[in-house]
Amino acid sequence: MTGARQPGIFVITGPSGVGKGTLIAALRERHPELGLSISATTRAPRAGEEDGVAYHFLADAEFDRRLAAGDFVEHANYAGHRYGTLRSELERHTRERKPVVLEIEVEGARQVRDAIPSAVLVFIAPPSQAALRRRLEERGTDAPATIAKRLAVAEEELAARNEFPHVIVNDQLDAAVGALEEIYLRPPPPPTPSR
Ligand code: 5GP
Repeated sequence: MTGARQPGIFVITGPSGVGKGTLIAALRERHPELGLSISATTRAPRAGEEDGVAYHFLADAEFDRRLAAGDFVEHANYAGHRYGTLRSELERHTRERKPVVLEIEVEGARQVRDAIPSAVLVFIAPPSQAALRRRLEERGTDAPATIAKRLAVAEEELAARNEFPHVIVNDQLDAAVGALEEIYLRPPPPPTPSR
């Protein structure tokens, strides 16, 4: 497929381990115009994660300072750490009239939906809870206690899927990327006339 979406904000949400990052990487390979919002977090970097590339890694006090300064579009607590989207990250792309994608958990996605009604929200669901557990375990990035925490949060997150206009079950990667691309390329609805 060719073509690019109108500049806009594209949100990919769903439980940890569902494959959001993999789907986004595949979509961006097909559509290099799509920029990535680099989130801020207070969690420690994992092996190989570079500051300013994987995340902006912030100390708690710095996160607080930036929150008080109104620097975040959305933010949430997730499994004992804080995560948030910096306004500057969105502006970096929208200033150049480029689309941008956010990979965030459910609470943050709700905040973006409320703050930016034109944002396109997509929920990624696992084929089953057992598949999610398997992926988190096989990924090998988290300690067993962390995986347990993430699975507990996932139960609540899965219950939120119907809040989102688009749901993709990430069973077969190619099919899921295709479904995501179809949503990405869909023309935005015309703006509702103000009365
Ligand atoms: P991880 O620690 O595995 O990198 O991320 C944990 C969860 O936080 C994932 O579901 C991830 O999508 C989400 N997350 C990453 N960045 C942000 C952000 O900026 N805001 C919110 N609300 N969640 C985020």
